Amino acid sequence: MSAPARPLRVAVIGSGPAGFYAAGALLTADPPAEVDLYDRLPAPWGLVRFGVAPDHPKIKDVSRAFEKIAARPGFRFLGNVEVGRDITPEDLSRFYDAVVYSVGAQTGRHLGIPGEELPGAWGATEFVAWYNGHPDFQDVPFDLDAERAVVVGAGNVALDVARMLALTEEELAPTDTTDAAIEAIIRSPLKEIVVLARRGPAQAAFTTPELKEMGELAGADIAVDPAELDLDAASAAFAEADTNARRNMEVLRQLAARPPAGKPRLVRFRFCVSPVAVLGDERVEAVELVRNRLESDESGHVRAVATDERETIPAGLVFRSVGYHGVPLEGVPFDERRGTIPNEGGLVGEGVYCAGWIKRGPTGVIGTNKKDATETVEMLIEDARAGRLPEAAQPHPAAPLELLAERGVEVVSYAGWETLDAAEKAAGEARGKPRVKRVTWGDLLAAARGEAGRPLSRA
Ligand code: NAP
Repeated sequence: MSAPARPLRVAVIGSGPAGFYAAGALLTADPPAEVDLYDRLPAPWGLVRFGVAPDHPKIKDVSRAFEKIAARPGFRFLGNVEVGRDITPEDLSRFYDAVVYSVGAQTGRHLGIPGEELPGAWGATEFVAWYNGHPDFQDVPFDLDAERAVVVGAGNVALDVARMLALTEEELAPTDTTDAAIEAIIRSPLKEIVVLARRGPAQAAFTTPELKEMGELAGADIAVDPAELDLDAASAAFAEADTNARRNMEVLRQLAARPPAGKPRLVRFRFCVSPVAVLGDERVEAVELVRNRLESDESGHVRAVATDERETIPAGLVFRSVGYHGVPLEGVPFDERRGTIPNEGGLVGEGVYCAGWIKRGPTGVIGTNKKDATETVEMLIEDARAGRLPEAAQPHPAAPLELLAERGVEVVSYAGWETLDAAEKAAGEARGKPRVKRVTWGDLLAAARGEAGRPLSRA
């Protein structure tokens, strides 16, 4: 092992924020590394394209920073290439001096209660991927034909789901939500969306700007029971000390005091309740809840403990929004319980690193991944300088492309993505939207090839 006399060649797997920030740090290292950024999808940006709610276009603007990174010399995008299917970790170790896995957390956690697999009970991850045009989720049979939906969880994803369900046609029209999702949401007979938090309002994971936004919806009132905002001593002390909790409590109190304006939908917040069963024969008909009391341990951690007080609320839809979970990649170590790749500051093993949610778990905002990925890359560069990287056996940049061509993989280059991007933006311009997404694999690949596609985002 010795530092190669050519530029360091690194593969980054997964082109979401962590992947792009890792690429950025590698391309600006001294001396700069060469980076091949892989993604299984023909389009980059990960959750910025497929996760961030479409009515939050400012958050999606972070993609401009990714475009700047992609413009640096030494950068290549290899879209439509799935590690594990098209190219293996062993192949990668032949072609690159180091590999950074930044594959995120691709599934949602389950509740582990009876009935959660009934039709009508969905993971928030599936719903989010569906309305954001992810090509693997366009055939999921989302049927929003229900008067009440229950969203389980009190994080920002739960608020995204509740808010998306509550948006009006006018609010959805200028977004890049798929046409199928817009149609389903506005045609749905939904009257009430209930957000269930297992702990109290002071422990809610959502952040204040996102909570405030719920109070500003054109088509939905907010209901909060003031009695549920009475805090026990430990929660009150926490809400005093924690800025987000304090601000959340202020907003919740304002919302609780506000009389309903008679808007067509209602978002109801419920605290200290957990679903114990999803009920129904053929599909979801109701959710059985248990009331929780809060108990704090010596460290001050407050946990929910079930009481024997139960209630059943009729509902035709349930969305689990209780956190994301990583999925294992064959040939890469994995911690099943945490859903992450075991690592030390991003180091997994000789020449193998990780960054983002697959490294630290599904927490933090997009910007958190910059520091996270930079930490990983600093370690990688230090290892390279110290001669600790196993030098690639076939470092020629053409080598991975040749292998993928032999295997019949249609690699989408960055130029291909730019062609696809331009086509989506042009279709959007005509309809007053930032873009109209291509939502099937076929349409995505055709647009990346420069072929004219179908004008609408219907699957
Ligand atoms: P999250 O913030 O970790 O929230 C998960 C929620 O699920 C918590 O309220 C948690 O309650 C609850 N939960 C976990 N297990 C549960 C169970 N068995 N039963 C009932 N509730 C349960 O996760 P997230 O909402 O998926 O968001 C992931 C990350 O992305 C977060 O860092 C989030 O801030 C970020 N994000 C940001 C935005 C934005 O900035 N606009 C939008 C979306 C996502 P406990 O606290 O009691 O465990």
